[in-house]
Amino acid sequence: MRFSLRNDLLIPQKQDSLPISKIAHIPQPPPNPNFAFNRELQQLLTGKQLLLDDLPIPFAEIQTHYEHGYITYRKGIVYNGKKPICSRCGNKDPRWFAAFPCSRCDELCLYCRHCLMMGRISTCTPLIGWNGLVPNIEMPPTILEWKGNLSEGQTTASNRVVDAIQQNKELLVWAVCGAGKTEVLFAGIEAALSVGKRVCIATPRTDVVLELTPRLKSAFPKITVASLYGGSEDRHLFAPLTIATTHQLLRFYQAFDAMILDEVDAFPYTVEESLQYAANQARKPVSTMVYLTATPNEKWQKECRAGKRPFTTIPARFHRHPLPVPQFAWCGNWQKLLQKNKLPANVLHWIKARLEINKQALIFFPHIPLMEKALLILRQFAPTIEAVHAEDPSRKEKVQKMRAKEIPLLLTTTILERGVTFPNIDVAVIGAEDTIFTESALVQISGRAGRSAAHPNGVVTFYHYGKTDEMLKARRQIVTMNREGVRKGLIDR
Ligand SMILES: [Zn+2]
Ligand SMILES: [Zn+2]
Repeated sequence: MRFSLRNDLLIPQKQDSLPISKIAHIPQPPPNPNFAFNRELQQLLTGKQLLLDDLPIPFAEIQTHYEHGYITYRKGIVYNGKKPICSRCGNKDPRWFAAFPCSRCDELCLYCRHCLMMGRISTCTPLIGWNGLVPNIEMPPTILEWKGNLSEGQTTASNRVVDAIQQNKELLVWAVCGAGKTEVLFAGIEAALSVGKRVCIATPRTDVVLELTPRLKSAFPKITVASLYGGSEDRHLFAPLTIATTHQLLRFYQAFDAMILDEVDAFPYTVEESLQYAANQARKPVSTMVYLTATPNEKWQKECRAGKRPFTTIPARFHRHPLPVPQFAWCGNWQKLLQKNKLPANVLHWIKARLEINKQALIFFPHIPLMEKALLILRQFAPTIEAVHAEDPSRKEKVQKMRAKEIPLLLTTTILERGVTFPNIDVAVIGAEDTIFTESALVQISGRAGRSAAHPNGVVTFYHYGKTDEMLKARRQIVTMNREGVRKGLIDR
């Protein structure tokens, strides 16, 4: 869009005008109390930053609301000197910008390629937000209706979350795999909602949003819950409680009093950086940030140990048994053997032993082609063995079959390192020295074993062709958590 300045207002016009990002200062009139604003727009825009194309409202009405002070325009792209920065996703890498002949401003217009999938942001794009009163939310007398119990470890963490939310502080909840971290949030969410705060739980993965939504809806049955992921129907729903993929946060601006970021470690740092930007932008300037993870990165672990990052741990699982500690086993040049259609003898022995006693197992491989080779070999012993990877169209069915115990062994890439629970399995990693197996991946993989109270023990073996630091750090992290669990009386011996 092109605007010119008149009477200290932005007025859209084609002649004697500039694309919005090139206007030095954007005037913002105060809300006019005598103006009858559109309540639908208020619901659509509170805490948001949307494009014109996102809004089912004609531009003339939006402009009128701006002129009466109810709508804000922000520049889609801001310039730091000559360097463009995308206001929505924070991208400032010149390689992620491109120019196109734009029909809206009749210029060669620079746009951000980094967040293009959420609609195009260019130098002539206004980001549209709300500037008036926020919609009123009525709270029921009882907010939280969850009737379960927290373990001792969960209770400590839950109290810390409540405290962080009441005092608008930052907190890292470092909970071992299988500790039950969702329940730890309930009291904090209740505390926030009861005083009219808006809460968001954000996670990088759609699977997690889909899994959390019904759990939160049943814990807070009278509260409107917006569940946001690519293509979800709640896109325009104004809700006190939002569960969203981190991508969806790009549409929010200073919306939430409490932001809970789940599994921030699930993606590499570069991706994480832009997701952190989105999460920061979606929260209010004074607000709470709670990070949830089983595997904080090395930098965060150091900050915790140095007392520079407020954190709380849940070092033990609900069932009060220690985490299975991975065993290391050297297996020689397993890749070379696989090329000759053979598996290392100790690996084969491990697998056959499980098949004999009908103990299910997950076996992790660093690469798909070698996994496929291993699959052919192992099917000689049990034809029902399956293999799964990220692009596998029958991924869900195979996981389902594994749950139903129709598959004795499931070979997998790191796609199943987190988010899946099978009650009674052993776990092996073949080629644990591969760089894909980071400390965090190996801790998560180990965390697949021994999860249920009925079967709290499981064997975890890392087969390797040379130990790596990541393997050692993963084992150390698990051992340290178990020690802390014992020390705090959260593990029975
Ligand atoms: Zn343009
Ligand atoms: Zn962008």
